[in-house]
Amino acid sequence: MATLRHQALSMVQARQRVQVTPPSPKISDFFGVNVFGGDQMKQSLAPSVYKKIMEAIDKGTKIDTATAEEVASAVKTWALSKGVTHYTHWFQPLTGSTAEKHDSFFDAHAGLEKFKGSALVQQEPDASSFPNGGIRSTFEARGYTAWDPSSPIFIFEKTLCIPTIFVSFTGEALDYKTPLLKSMEAINEAALPICQLFDRNVRKVTASLGVEQEYFVIDKALFSARPDLVMAGRSVFGHNPARGQQLEDHYFGSIPTRVKNFMMDFEIEALKLGIPVATRHNEVAPGQFEVAPIYEEINKATDHNQLLMDVMDKVAEKHDLKVLFHEKPFAGVNGSGKHNNWSLITDTGVNLFQPSNSARENLQFLTFLVATVKAVYDHAGLLRASIASAGNDFRLGANEAPPAIISVFLGATLTEVLDELEKNGNIKIEKGDNMYMKLGISKIPEIILDNTDRNRTSPFAFTGNKFEFRAVGSHANVAGPMTVLNVIVAETLKQMTKDIEKEMNSGKEKKIAIVNVLRKYIKESKKVRFEGDGYSEEWEKEALKRGLANLKSTPEALDIYEKKEVQALFERHNVMNPLEVTARHEIMLEDFIKKVQIESRVMGDLALNHIIPTAITYQNKLIENANGLKGLGLDNSAAIETIKDVSRHIEAVKFNVTAMIDARRKLNKEEDIIKRAKGYQKEVKEAFFDKIRYAVDKLELLVDDELWPLIKYREMLFIR
Ligand code: ADP
Ligand code: MG
Repeated sequence: MATLRHQALSMVQARQRVQVTPPSPKISDFFGVNVFGGDQMKQSLAPSVYKKIMEAIDKGTKIDTATAEEVASAVKTWALSKGVTHYTHWFQPLTGSTAEKHDSFFDAHAGLEKFKGSALVQQEPDASSFPNGGIRSTFEARGYTAWDPSSPIFIFEKTLCIPTIFVSFTGEALDYKTPLLKSMEAINEAALPICQLFDRNVRKVTASLGVEQEYFVIDKALFSARPDLVMAGRSVFGHNPARGQQLEDHYFGSIPTRVKNFMMDFEIEALKLGIPVATRHNEVAPGQFEVAPIYEEINKATDHNQLLMDVMDKVAEKHDLKVLFHEKPFAGVNGSGKHNNWSLITDTGVNLFQPSNSARENLQFLTFLVATVKAVYDHAGLLRASIASAGNDFRLGANEAPPAIISVFLGATLTEVLDELEKNGNIKIEKGDNMYMKLGISKIPEIILDNTDRNRTSPFAFTGNKFEFRAVGSHANVAGPMTVLNVIVAETLKQMTKDIEKEMNSGKEKKIAIVNVLRKYIKESKKVRFEGDGYSEEWEKEALKRGLANLKSTPEALDIYEKKEVQALFERHNVMNPLEVTARHEIMLEDFIKKVQIESRVMGDLALNHIIPTAITYQNKLIENANGLKGLGLDNSAAIETIKDVSRHIEAVKFNVTAMIDARRKLNKEEDIIKRAKGYQKEVKEAFFDKIRYAVDKLELLVDDELWPLIKYREMLFIR
């Protein structure tokens, strides 16, 4: 009996639209009202305290107890005035979501609301339930959270949220934020000497990030009626709808009203939280959408992305919708990613990836561009590992998503510039020559602005004034990949500084020294540059020839964290020690195993408890029909053919589910976590998922629609 499905479908029919009215027609009237940001601080803190906080944010100086008390007191007053009763340290454990533990401001003993500086600065959450990759069990069984003043305090759902890092008592990072903050230091330190070759006034380089977030939206009732979506975030069964992505009318088409209201609503909440959401549109697949805020300093952008996902989740409930952040909720249609637009910006206001009218600045631009390309080439494996997850495995290389091969797209203009630079190795630059003219560097800007050619198939593309890392999964915490990107570019920039110095020490003029090093790096990293169709089979072959890795599964991709030189790289830049890297590796493997395990269980349960009984019911009906026909002396061969088909698929489902359960049982005894993860990949996922799905999806086509228990794709995907 398919009652749940039919009930859910009639609920959808009866849905009322939720009307949304912005608090004011002008966004500036409510932008950031729920944030204790710069303006709030300036208003409510003594000038000396404000200055100390700003210094702490800018230079990472320590905040003394007295300052913390002052801030805590001001924050409390502000929060209470807004009807807030509780506060929490808000942090990003390695589970991939955010965590909070709420405490009341009310002190029953004192009979009044209290908030001490010490409670602002540090807390000890019960950390035992967060993944730690063995760090805390080996060392101390406790961890603490510590205030990150560089990310503003905010109010979410009547709770004061204080962004914090989360570390063990022995100092190891147990979260995403800590390494990200350290990697910002690393990139600043490495980029400064290069910047100063061009401009001595530069004092700080900051990484910026703008995150384009893709997501699916479906009706809440339909979501609840799909146990696989509820348990695994992904539909493990479901035949493609007759009308799929091929029509391509969804992309940039008009947004369904229900969804538009939802978007307006969550954007208002996001704006109140100081999240600068700017664009919204339909995505490639039906039911898929995108939201993008304006870029910010990378730590803030990361916090804001995590918070935005929470906001969307909460607001969706009000609209009886469910947001799916999984990378591949529906097979056969586009998956969801999170495009990370990344650049480096100096305190003098120069975007180092912005070509300019000044030839000298263009040399600087090329220096950072080439360094980034070289970093991606040298550390492609690490970048690949940084985006590895069970969910993203389904997306990479399938239906309009970048492949698992890491390559860089620069566009025709820059390709030509780099090719020229490489070729002109022997150009003699005489005294009085315009080197920039001779090398063809002086004429970059207008050409780039002219043809912003866009290759959407590249995992790592230069897009005019920034790089766009597109292989990141929609569910991921971007701190992971952004930490890696910062570190590998820092590494290359450091090496570059040394190489330029070496040239200069051998008597070369500065500009010439830089150009010589660029040429060398361009040659060395050429193989990673690819301008063609990244979705094509030819590219897979070509990449293989070039020796570029194409690691399709998470456990293989993660192997790189075992390498001594990789662990040394993180340690050299003071971002993570080997123990932290190993711990992360273990947590990611654990996460992968859990996800595959859950999917496999959901598949088994659905198949045995829902699909097979339904198929048998239908099979019996067919048998009755066949007998009836025979009794009347009519031809029943068509009915018999269908009975055979149904029986064949039932057997396939049953056989494969049983064998899959056996495979899981065997693997669960495997002590070595790397072997267990690889086993789950090969012996569970690869061996059975597609086979079981194939048979179930065939049954969906055969069995009477009235009987089918699972909400169908066409019912879930086309929201009106
Ligand atoms: P697309 O065409 O890829 O959608 P957009 O111009 O809409 O590109 O920008 C996408 C994202 O890139 C936005 O979040 C935007 O703020 C961000 N972005 C723009 N410039 C930069 C920059 N210099 N550094 C980082 N992100 C940037
Ligand atoms: Mg983009």
